[in-house]
Amino acid sequence: MRSAAGGLEAGFFGRALLAAIVLVLGSAFHLASPAFADALRASDYRMAGDAVKMRVVLDFDREPDVRWLLLRSPHRLVIDLPKTAFLLEQKALEPAGLVSHVGYGALGEDAARIVLTGNGPFAVDSFEVLANEEGGGYRLAIDISAASEAAFEAALAVQAETTGATVAAKTDRLNPPPKPFVVVIDPGHGGADGGAEGATGTAEKEITLSFAMQLRDKLAATGRYDVHMTRDKDEFLRLDDRVRIARQHAADLFISIHADTIRVKSLRGATVYTVSDKASDAEAQALAERENLSDQLVGFPPVQENPEVADILFDLIRRETHGFSIRFAKSLVEELSTSIGVINNPHRFAGFRVLRAPDVPSVLVELGYLSNAEDEERLKSVEWRGKAADSIARAVEQFAGSRRAAGG
Ligand SMILES: [Zn+2]
Repeated sequence: MRSAAGGLEAGFFGRALLAAIVLVLGSAFHLASPAFADALRASDYRMAGDAVKMRVVLDFDREPDVRWLLLRSPHRLVIDLPKTAFLLEQKALEPAGLVSHVGYGALGEDAARIVLTGNGPFAVDSFEVLANEEGGGYRLAIDISAASEAAFEAALAVQAETTGATVAAKTDRLNPPPKPFVVVIDPGHGGADGGAEGATGTAEKEITLSFAMQLRDKLAATGRYDVHMTRDKDEFLRLDDRVRIARQHAADLFISIHADTIRVKSLRGATVYTVSDKASDAEAQALAERENLSDQLVGFPPVQENPEVADILFDLIRRETHGFSIRFAKSLVEELSTSIGVINNPHRFAGFRVLRAPDVPSVLVELGYLSNAEDEERLKSVEWRGKAADSIARAVEQFAGSRRAAGG
């Protein structure tokens, strides 16, 4: 069952809802009172997933008459219900992944609402009410995923059209300006996660940030790209937040920058990685495993992998996106090999979590290895980094040029 309802603007209902929540939250008295005897009963709220994709599930004692709508500023999913007794555990409502807040409460005498606030714009991928096969009752299951502001606005516009409600469009949808080519640069590590460390104490997180800023400036100076960074200061970011940022900017290209250490100290030169569930070699596998641990290094629990969600994610890594990632990786290898030099078999692949945006061509570049003394010296040099950034900028230009020529 899929339903969309009126595009109500935030102000009044937001305030009314807030008042309702304040009144009802934690009030067991209300639930036990006769006024709630005929209410729908909602229980066992749960969320699984991460900053890129979340599944939200809620159980009901009988089939709920449920409608949903989107609100902006901030980005919210509003779930409208009839009079409902909420039997929810506070702990289950704590912010997680893509959801930064969960609120619920009565809306007048005969209605109730749940409001999920997104960590930035998102898309509602599915919204279903299913009969529970075991135990009776019904289950509401909602899948949301990080999406661009434009996608969120488009969903709001559809909502307004199907319901006749008016939503002030921010842009003239009849004549949208040509979309600039969006590059998101991701300086690896940051904050408490310093990344690799060179023999003379060089921290990977500093190299990656300095390099990313040089690359950003070079790309921005051409005036041909819309360039964003996942971080522009020394801060910790989860891997799924990096992917979320790429999706929310509707990135046409995502470049994660690294300079790790590797067991073989003599190994030096650049490597370009793309995502794959099977690694190209043992070194790539080990590197991906280490990179994927970076969330845990700073005390974040491992992301709860809802197997269902994970499967959907991998299914969604469309052949097309993967093809584009590989195409960019190849031209990147070509450029880097003639400027800063690359290792043997410079295009490798492994299961990097940070490269798994299903619709954003993504590569991870190891500029060099901090485990190699010569590489460490080069990585610290502004001039050398400028040369490497020039190479990447040329590869970006080729890739963007071919995408523009193809009309997308
Ligand atoms: Zn790294």
